[in-house]
Amino acid sequence: MKLKDPQHIPGLANTILNNISDEIVIVDLEGIIIYRNPAAVKTFSKSAEDMLGKHISEFNPDFDPKIILPEFDKNGYQPINKDWHFTHAENKSSWLDSSLSPFYDDSGELIGILAVIKDITQKKQVELELNQNRKWLSRALELGQTGIWDWNLHTEKPFWSQKMLEIYGYESLEDIPSFKTWEKTIYPDDKEFVMRHIMEALEENKKYNIIFRIWNGTEKSIKYLHAIGEVIIDELDKVPHLRGVARDVSSWKTTENQLIESLRFNSNIIKYALEGIFVLDPELTCLIWNPKLEKLLGKKAGHVLGKNIMEGLEIQGHKKEAYQRIFRKVLRGSSETFEDVFFVENEEGKQKLWLKILLSPNLKEDGKGNEIIGIISDITESREREEVLAETSERLRLATETARIGIWKHDFESNTSQWNDQLFQMLGIDPDLLEASPEIWQELFHPDDRADAINNLQRLANGEEVLNIEFRIIRPDGEIRYINASGKGISDSKGNILQGIGVNVDVSHLKKHERSLRQKNEELEKINKALDTFVYHTSHNLRAPLANIQGILEILSNNPTEAEKDRFLNYATENVENMDRTIQTIIDYSYNSRIELSREHVKVSKLVNSVVNSLSFMDHRQKVNIINAIPGELTVFTDVDRLRMVFLNLLSNSLKYFDRSKPLPYVKITYKSNEDIARFIIEDNGIGIAEAHQNSIFQMFVRATDQGKGSGLGLYIVKEVMTNLGGNIRFESTDGKGTCFYIEIPR
Ligand code: ADP
Repeated sequence: MKLKDPQHIPGLANTILNNISDEIVIVDLEGIIIYRNPAAVKTFSKSAEDMLGKHISEFNPDFDPKIILPEFDKNGYQPINKDWHFTHAENKSSWLDSSLSPFYDDSGELIGILAVIKDITQKKQVELELNQNRKWLSRALELGQTGIWDWNLHTEKPFWSQKMLEIYGYESLEDIPSFKTWEKTIYPDDKEFVMRHIMEALEENKKYNIIFRIWNGTEKSIKYLHAIGEVIIDELDKVPHLRGVARDVSSWKTTENQLIESLRFNSNIIKYALEGIFVLDPELTCLIWNPKLEKLLGKKAGHVLGKNIMEGLEIQGHKKEAYQRIFRKVLRGSSETFEDVFFVENEEGKQKLWLKILLSPNLKEDGKGNEIIGIISDITESREREEVLAETSERLRLATETARIGIWKHDFESNTSQWNDQLFQMLGIDPDLLEASPEIWQELFHPDDRADAINNLQRLANGEEVLNIEFRIIRPDGEIRYINASGKGISDSKGNILQGIGVNVDVSHLKKHERSLRQKNEELEKINKALDTFVYHTSHNLRAPLANIQGILEILSNNPTEAEKDRFLNYATENVENMDRTIQTIIDYSYNSRIELSREHVKVSKLVNSVVNSLSFMDHRQKVNIINAIPGELTVFTDVDRLRMVFLNLLSNSLKYFDRSKPLPYVKITYKSNEDIARFIIEDNGIGIAEAHQNSIFQMFVRATDQGKGSGLGLYIVKEVMTNLGGNIRFESTDGKGTCFYIEIPR
């Protein structure tokens, strides 16, 4: 056999052979490679030289002419297709798709075999993987009772999986309908819905996910199908496919439907609902009309069911248009809440009703369109209350403004408060800066009154009426105000307390008045009591000497001896002096309490000297040394007569209660003062005051000793006078040692 030189292949053919991606190999009838194009060199990973002249069986034994030539003989020398799995030296495998044809020389003599080889390794691998995936998928789909289908939209050629055939009840692939005929399998009521979704998916390139019914013409054959589909451009044939999965969901769809139906018509919820409930189909025909609605609107279900709701509710005119608009919106999927007024004739006669209407769509999965569920509640009571409140609020505002009454309203549910302007004013709060709130209100309570006030608020929340309670508040500016408050809870028909309302009146001015009245009253009571004691004691003090004098006069009238006469006359004089002292005390007392203060600049040293002079005739006066150490120029701006009373009493006491056992009895008046206050100290070394009496010597008619004569009123009057002068008095005394009185008066 002559080896044909590849150069003999004509130029054009040669160019093609050098450039195409197909591999061309020619072997002679013995199997020796006589030609290979550049593409072949690449695939076989050998150089041209390595291949040429070699036997083909080195590369692929299946390609041996010994095998191929008998096949040519059999098929009349037609090309033969062969897949060739080729493993490279580096253990890399290639899949080759080859077409083998007889090769003739110019004279038409068969001289070899020409192989056109295509490397399909990549395609083969994808295919293998795909096959693997398909296997898994079909297994998964089988388990899930899911069928898959694929429609080539150009050729309308469908592919259905076995499961799809089962679902549709077809026996073989031949039964699969075309897209056109498939449409007939959709249950007529669902056809429009299904086609709309498919069209939308095609136009907008999106997925659809629907449940619809298929049948073969008889109601018994109806099946529910859950189908998911999408448009996909196939990688291989580059044409759009509508591809998807479908599942027979008849069993649970039927159960669900039954459930819904039974819920719908038998549900106690609907029957006994406290709110009116109706259900409309997409044509607004009334399907459900519950007993509460019958009662509310005075219309029996029998009159409304099966009719258009507009008739049922007797909605006419422009209101009808508005309702239709709302119903349309709901049918498109939105929920709407609105309020409306109805004039209805019900059990309670003709009535104006405020109704709150909530409409929501009930999306039906079988594609029949939406139903509308309406819930109607009667809000007449609260609306009427609002109306009445609005009416009265203006009148109330006028009244409260003039009477300065603060009004508050509290909603327990939302825990929000409202205050009128008067209340804001009363509390000293700027309504532009702070909002009314229960927290602020409680913050203002005076700490001492807080517990009580909060307790009263609680009573109110429990429904009690709280009347005329009083408490103090501390305003933000620190001012304390007295508030008189009354309030009550407002309840609904079931007795739930919804709101509290109340009035506050600022009674601070009354309180101030009341306080000064009480103070005056207390003073009066004290004076009364003092007067009682005073009258009792003074009458005794006056009557005793009088009785003595009477007795003396009797003795004197019975011819007494001269000695007796002298003695009894002396005795009578003593009694008269006693009476005089008592009367002087009464005069002092009365002077102090009744005569107005009259202040002047008083030279105190001079005043003390004059007092000492007036005491010249007292018993034992000469035994006691009186030292006036007050500077002569010192003046105090005060009531001179009252200050005289003070010194007179204190000095006469020092003289009365001097200590006879001491060699040098004295009383010393010294002075110590600053700019505002003058302080005088009257110090003696007299008998002192026993500790047991020290707490009581300023009280009326208290005497701490039997020495000297006295009424026990002196220090009481001194104390009162000092208070009157705006000063004070205190003392220190040691029994047997002496006493020191300190008096302080403003200068
Ligand atoms: P009396 O009329 O008894 O003096 P006073 O009210 O002036 O009444 O005094 C009350 C009592 O205080 C006196 O009875 C006396 O016991 C005591 N007392 C007052 N001043 C002195 C003093 N300087 N030294 C000792 N005791 C005094």
